[in-house]
Amino acid sequence: MSVSIDLSSTSALIFGVANHRSIAWSIAKCLHDAGAHLTITYQNERLKRSVYDLTKDLDNIAITECDVTDEAALSKAFSIASSMSTLSTVIHSVAFAQREELEGNFSLTTPEGFRLALEISAYSLIPIARLAGKHMTQGGSVITMTFHASEKVYPGYNVMGVAKAALENEVIQLASEYGERNIRFNAISAGPLNTLAARGIHGYAKMEQIHAARAPLRRNISQDEVASTALFLASNLSSGITGATIPVDAGYNIMGV
Ligand code: NAD
Repeated sequence: MSVSIDLSSTSALIFGVANHRSIAWSIAKCLHDAGAHLTITYQNERLKRSVYDLTKDLDNIAITECDVTDEAALSKAFSIASSMSTLSTVIHSVAFAQREELEGNFSLTTPEGFRLALEISAYSLIPIARLAGKHMTQGGSVITMTFHASEKVYPGYNVMGVAKAALENEVIQLASEYGERNIRFNAISAGPLNTLAARGIHGYAKMEQIHAARAPLRRNISQDEVASTALFLASNLSSGITGATIPVDAGYNIMGV
């Protein structure tokens, strides 16, 4: 059995690059190093320059704007990715909640805040799955990003905990539905990482400190550790894994006290 990972002559479609700290950017670089042709999407005009600057030295790359709530833009992104090469990897690394929903008591969550957080952070995987079903003609791997707040209380995470619980449930349902076409769905549950999204979480800095102190590995994780797990999930080395939520959290989730 060969253990090298070669994704050349495959195409990877990536949602969620905002800047150099984005988890999706670390994953993109890792997939590119393994030879994949990348299609990187950015959410809106505001992030365009940042994504073009980041990717200027990469070859075999396409870039397109895509708000995940816009099905026409999603469809276009998939068409571009499958025109590059055989589409075999999709990275869904997208989440959003209004800042005021991430402060104060969870019981104050508004219907609009709930709808928006769930639509962007969880529902968006469903149209992506439908398009993956259409374009991943030779099977493939869809990877999404979740957090431990799906099952334990993290004050300040509020409605985003509900969104991550929904997202993890989607992963098992989609894995079941698309398994016979050899399209695998998995989630990576990352420990705290200092990104744009994390900075919106009230008390994030304290969370990072507690995590490093209590995790069995006695430290926080890095974007690169999430990226190498994504590379494994994108490759045939993980061909028997679908419907899993894999913690990349220095072991934090196993601790009671
Ligand atoms: P980030 O801010 O770099 O990435 C979030 C991305 O979501 C951005 O690129 C943003 O443009 C995109 N996005 C938001 N709304 C969108 C929309 N409507 N359409 C398209 N894109 C949209 O932060 P990140 O930490 O890299 O987050 C990536 C994923 O990882 C998220 O799902 C997040 O919940 C998850 N995650 C992060 C951490 C952490 O501590 N940073 C831990 C576990 C899981």
